[in-house]
Amino acid sequence: MEISSANYLISAANMSQLAPPAYPEYAFVGRSNVGKSSFINCLCNRKNLAHTSATPGKTQTVNLYLINEAWVLADLPGFGYARTNKTQREKFAKLIIHYIEKRESLMNVFLLIDGRLVPQDIDKEFVQYMGEAGIPFSIVFTKIDDTNQKSLAKISHAWEDYLSATWDELPPVFFTSARSGRGRKEVLAYIAEMNPLWVPVKTYGPAGNQSL
Ligand code: GDP
Repeated sequence: MEISSANYLISAANMSQLAPPAYPEYAFVGRSNVGKSSFINCLCNRKNLAHTSATPGKTQTVNLYLINEAWVLADLPGFGYARTNKTQREKFAKLIIHYIEKRESLMNVFLLIDGRLVPQDIDKEFVQYMGEAGIPFSIVFTKIDDTNQKSLAKISHAWEDYLSATWDELPPVFFTSARSGRGRKEVLAYIAEMNPLWVPVKTYGPAGNQSL
């Protein structure tokens, strides 16, 4: 899939501010500083579509972008940044959870995980949560330019071990780098594969105004 257009739609601090679902939607989420903004910019071939965070944990909104006038990319707030106070963290978590559980057009959550680190508890908890909530998700390892094949293999095996203890079927996994662009094509191809599966969300107009 080539990116022909990427347009900012809205930043929402709560669900009621979100545009009504009109396209298949794909959410990107991960710990603050995981490289989410950089990867979104790389994915969309834009320098500054998603703002790379000078102050981690600052983004408190769900930001929607319309891509190719065909699908929506949802940039979710980063979670688990140690320096944000508990109230803030709870608020982030609530917005993420509301979005994930209530957004009818959500096709898939891409969970970004730092490809340089052994599995972190907070990432495991998030995976656990999505599994229990029955949310389709994929794992996107980030910053793989900054590691070597051996340690990347070790880390991805550790994740496989962790996941296969609970699930029969493992989620799709992508190895990416915003610096080199690796994995970009694969993630876009996966989205292109899913787009036709989208069933438009029903919106109900006034009586007599519904076309069947
Ligand atoms: P966010 O908080 O998840 O949106 O993360 P950012 O995109 O702002 O990136 C956080 C830090 O990681 C920045 O210092 C980036 O330069 C760095 N970073 C992001 N992507 C990559 C990558 O692909 N490779 C490397 N080596 N560093 C990256």
